[in-house]
Amino acid sequence: MLNVIRAPRREDIAPRVNEFLRALPGPVAIHLPGRDSSRTRVLVTLSHGNEPSGLEALHLWLLGDEQPAVNVVVILGSVEAARAEPLFFLRQLPDQRDLNRCFNPPYNKDEQGQLAQSILRYIRDLKPEAVVDMHNTSGSSVAFAVTVGDTPAQRALVGHFVNRLIVTDLRLGSLMEQDLGCPVVTIEAGGSLDENSDIVAQQGMRNFFLASELFSESREIALFRHPLRLELRQHSRIDYADRALHDRDITVRQDIEKFNFAPIDVDEMLGWLGVDGLSHLVIGSACQQPHAVSEFFRVEAGCLYPVQRMHLFMATTRPDIAASDCLFYFVNDVTIDTI
Ligand SMILES: [Zn+2]
Repeated sequence: MLNVIRAPRREDIAPRVNEFLRALPGPVAIHLPGRDSSRTRVLVTLSHGNEPSGLEALHLWLLGDEQPAVNVVVILGSVEAARAEPLFFLRQLPDQRDLNRCFNPPYNKDEQGQLAQSILRYIRDLKPEAVVDMHNTSGSSVAFAVTVGDTPAQRALVGHFVNRLIVTDLRLGSLMEQDLGCPVVTIEAGGSLDENSDIVAQQGMRNFFLASELFSESREIALFRHPLRLELRQHSRIDYADRALHDRDITVRQDIEKFNFAPIDVDEMLGWLGVDGLSHLVIGSACQQPHAVSEFFRVEAGCLYPVQRMHLFMATTRPDIAASDCLFYFVNDVTIDTI
């Protein structure tokens, strides 16, 4: 199920990332021997075929001549989806489940479940000191980390990559929710089209591979705890524009992505609502506690505003994603903290 490549030689690595991807044997664990072979770290990336920053950073690393501080195993899950044409376009193959929703049992339902199980077993057998799962966001965004739980070790690990951390209790069947016997964090390096994402991935990967100790550093981190989700009601109609669209129940401003992680004040207009006002919206929560939309949002002259200052993230301008997932996540309180 999971192929294994041990100690790849630089001269065997294709010079271009597309050729490197095409030459992979399928889902694979690549072992990079470290100076200290008594410890192992795991980096999982390309769990989604349309999120290339982690693979590109790995490819650059393999073309270089540095050795990791400890043994590193890089696991690439959705190699087949990534190399389906057009390259790096499909999150998963059309007839398959999202790999990062398959890490809860039962695993024998389909190929993706079996792959998730073999990845879990492989990681547990390695007894790693840390696991990082590296992704890109769907929309344009700055980089951030997501964790389940909030321990000093997780925060220290996050600090090697980014300075924003979302602590969630969302349960989706993703890798980071699993007990791997060590700290686990997810890194969202930013949108796949954002220039900075590749740099975040490369620098973070270098830090993760080269640091002799992962958990000793102290860095400032902005903490976003337990976000809520603004969701569209089923069958409600949404679109994105720079003016109200009269055949839609809600029109979100076209430039909403620019607010990702920026503070939003109460006078910041987020979109236009039809005659039914807030009734097409619902607050979904990671922990499913019910909240009224009017606790957080208000309507004034047909426009949508926050009730309190808030931070948004994962805002998208794709109506299909907004309808099937959510418009955005938000939190009211942000604390700046150090490890
Ligand atoms: Zn992803």
